Amino acid sequence: MQTFWSHCCREYFYDSELLMFCILIVASFQISFWTLNAALIYLDTHKTRFDKYRIQSNKPKVSLQPELVSKIRKSIVKYTITASLFTPILYLLLNIKGRVDMRGPTPPITTIIWQTLLFIFTEDTLFYWGHYLLHHKSLYKFHKEHHTYQQPIGIVAVLSDPLESLIQIQSAVWLAAALLPHKHIFTLMVWIIIRVHQTVYAHGGYNIPYVHMKHYIPSLFLGCKPHDYHHRVGKYNYGSFFSFWDKVMGTYKEPDTE
Ligand SMILES: [Zn+2]
Ligand SMILES: [Zn+2]
Repeated sequence: MQTFWSHCCREYFYDSELLMFCILIVASFQISFWTLNAALIYLDTHKTRFDKYRIQSNKPKVSLQPELVSKIRKSIVKYTITASLFTPILYLLLNIKGRVDMRGPTPPITTIIWQTLLFIFTEDTLFYWGHYLLHHKSLYKFHKEHHTYQQPIGIVAVLSDPLESLIQIQSAVWLAAALLPHKHIFTLMVWIIIRVHQTVYAHGGYNIPYVHMKHYIPSLFLGCKPHDYHHRVGKYNYGSFFSFWDKVMGTYKEPDTE
């Protein structure tokens, strides 16, 4: 059956599902990462009406000084090389149990929603425990680089040791998809965009109302203030999407309650 996806594969990716997977996964990450960060960099380098939502407003804005730009540039090059090598391996891993559908029709919205929710819940649990363990003194050396800045901005979301990135972050992001028998490339692209938005916003330094689910269901979601606080003090709030595990384990701290 001729579908939009099979047409794209044949016309634009030399009929190679592997090539199509790698380009669409990397593009979903890069486009969502840089779109959101462009907006955050604009806020950090201009005086705007969003200044009143800055989390660490008692400190000056993080300007893009040469030392920060150089560190971020190195980190982004390192991240891009690691991701480029990892993406073809990811394609093989996702096809061990079940397969990634690269040519079938776009799944129904209900399938996209339940699969994405499964990815979110699995990632949140694995991320919490991996992050919690990385703060143990014997493992902290792998996580130290991510904590270089106590006043984070969106682009520092990728500041991490390649080992931390592959073992802790990528395994949490992809485990549920690897175990799922049938997953469509479109659902995986939606998942990446949601995950990138979550992590960049958590490091963004702005608590802007209405743009995050935390605004609507504050008791369920972690949001950006707790992760900003995690960077400021180097402990508490180890989760990604939800505050559930932090509350169960007694590691939750809402910065306003200091
Ligand atoms: Zn940490
Ligand atoms: Zn962080």
